[in-house]
Parts: sequence; structure tokens; C-alpha cells
Amino acid sequence: MQALRLTSWQHDAEFADVPDPDPGPGEVLVRIGGAGACHSDLHLMHDFVPGALPFDPPFTLGHENAGWVEAVGPGVRCLEPGTPVAVYGAWGCGRCPRCRVGAENYCVDQPRRPVAGGGLGTDGGMAPLMLVPDARFLVELGDLDPVDAAPLTDAGLTPYHAIRRSAHLLGPGSTALVVGVGGLGHLAIQLLRELTPTTVVAVDERPEALVLAAELGAHHTVAPGPAAHDEVLGRTGGRGVDVAIDLVGSSVTLEFAAALTRSLGHVTIVGLGGGQLPVGFTSPAYEVSVATTYWGSIPELVEVLALGAAGRIHADVQRFTLDQAPDAYRLMAAGQLDGRAVVVPS
Ligand SMILES: [Zn+2]
Ligand SMILES: [Zn+2]
Repeated sequence: MQALRLTSWQHDAEFADVPDPDPGPGEVLVRIGGAGACHSDLHLMHDFVPGALPFDPPFTLGHENAGWVEAVGPGVRCLEPGTPVAVYGAWGCGRCPRCRVGAENYCVDQPRRPVAGGGLGTDGGMAPLMLVPDARFLVELGDLDPVDAAPLTDAGLTPYHAIRRSAHLLGPGSTALVVGVGGLGHLAIQLLRELTPTTVVAVDERPEALVLAAELGAHHTVAPGPAAHDEVLGRTGGRGVDVAIDLVGSSVTLEFAAALTRSLGHVTIVGLGGGQLPVGFTSPAYEVSVATTYWGSIPELVEVLALGAAGRIHADVQRFTLDQAPDAYRLMAAGQLDGRAVVVPS
């Protein structure tokens, strides 16, 4: 089968013919219905040098996947071929205390493991078929279309986790700042509206992204620039925001987010923009916590998919065939995608 693969660091992905996988004991073969193209794939292609990550190419890209059970290996029960499923993407050891509660994204065994997940060191979903090493990584979709579900496994799950961990700060009268209204950001806005009573302020340099943000429920949209800081501050009555979620993660966006976060607030770094944020006694404000987050847990994915199935959040999807997948990444790199690009290989 054709697969879009990362063959070496600092290199565009390329197509290769690979054998159809065969599920071994405990494994599940999934026919991919949708594979989301994530901005972090661009970082995989262009930004990392050998040794920077705990895995190396070659592998098939695509860490945001949903489809149908194609075949199960010996010992897999309760999963019939044809069942629509989402693939949980962070593959931990399954045995450590964190994996036991579904937080495989923070598996304590992971530093010793060479594998981070499908599309991240092992073969992912940018191909008609994907081998999933354990049935525990699959969540049944019910009526949700795999194309709509695929982005929820990362672009939905990642902001869901970031918002849930800060939910105690997002009560009535609070403000949340969303920096970057791309694949994750457009879902972050919907999740903030669905999960909290907070006021949502969205920032993006692309005017069309701000139009989308407003359509999806952002109360205020702000274009970056010299006046942006004061404009956001004005929306909070001069107090600053309670939670800033930076889905870009450049030094510029991090300093912007931190400067606007009021005391006791959270600055959450989600984007892999590679920026640095100086932290010292005089800034950020008192008791502001700065944290990175990585993905979310399996129980959180179940909750995100339930919101999707109920129609309470949705990914704004642009579909691409597998042949067109490089175009999706080119458009993403040029900032010309709205919402999420999903590759439909089958
Ligand atoms: Zn991703
Ligand atoms: Zn573990």
C-alpha cells in the first residue's frame, strides 16, 4: 500500500510502497477513514535533528486517526471487523501507575521506550491501513464519522486536557486567552464555551481565522500588533486574563500571553513553536503557573468523542486524498488552512 512517510530528519515526507500490516497477538488492524494533518508533523519534517526525540525515521506520518476495525489479532475480543473506532495516539507501557488510569501520554516508562505512538516513531495513519499494538488504544465511535472524529483525537483532546486542568480558574467573570486559531485553537474555543462560563478572547494573525473564531463562539477577536496587548487588557477591565493557552508557542506569543496573565493565573504552552519564556521574580505576575501539556488521557478522549457525537463540538474539516496530503502540509505551512486538514486514504 501507499504510505506518506518521514524517511529522514529535516526532510519533507515522501510516498513509499509498504507491505500491508498483519495483526499479531493483541494487535488490531484499522482501515483509516481519516488521518488529521497536524502542525507538529511540520516540526517533525523540518525542525528536529537526530537524537532530539526518542525515536527516529523511517515511519508513516499521521498521529490523529480514526477508521474501522479491519482485522484483529489472536486474543483480541469484543472488537468486530467493521466497528468504527478512534485511535488514542500516545502509546505508553500500559502497566505503570499513570497508564493504569489512562494517562498514557505521561507514561513514566516512556523515557526508556523508543516509541511514542503511531505517526510518532511507528507507522501512523497516512496510509489505507494502520496497525495498532493494543485494543486498549481504540475507542468506539458509534455514529460519529471517522473523518470528523480523527481531529478530535489530537486537535480536540489536547486543548480539552489543557482546559480541564485549568477549569477551576475559568468560572463566571473570568477570561481565557486563546493564542492561535488553527487546528487546535478552533476546537479550544468551542471547548471553552462548552465546558466553562469564561469569556473567550482569541488572537490570530490571519483575518479569516478570526472570522472562524467568532463563528465558533469567541466573545472577542484580536489581531496581533502593537495595540493587541492593550486591546486584550481592555476586554478584561484592565485585570488581565485568568488562563492563556498558547497554541503557537513562539517566544513572541509566549511573552504576549504571559504579560497578559493576571496573578494566580495559568500560562499553558501547547504549541511546539520552540519559543522560550523567561520566568523570574518580577514576571510573570505573582503565582502565575507556566506549564506545558502534552496530549490527554484515554478517559479524556472518551469524553471529547462524546461531545463530538452529541454535536456539541465539531472539527472544521478540509478533506484531502492521500495523494493530496503533501498539498495539505504545504497549505498549512503557508498559513492557508482554516480548521483541520484530514487525509482520507480509503
Ligand atoms: Zn498533533
Ligand atoms: Zn506507562
